Amino acid sequence: MSTLKANRDVCIGAGVCVMTDHAVFDQDEDGIVTLSSADPTVDDAVRGAVASCPSGALSIEE
Ligand code: SF4
Repeated sequence: MSTLKANRDVCIGAGVCVMTDHAVFDQDEDGIVTLSSADPTVDDAVRGAVASCPSGALSIEE
């Protein structure tokens, strides 16, 4: 099963992931990425968000 990882130390708060898939990604008050659930389903939208993140904060463990 694929697992989505979000490295909050690397995130620069660009918000691209939230705009791509707001059901899975959110931002805290500082703009840093949060996940709406601990282990979200890795679908095409999530993969698109991971690919679009400018900081490389998002990854998928296969
Ligand atoms: S797209 Fe990347 S840098 Fe931007 S908020 Fe999401 S995880 Fe952070």
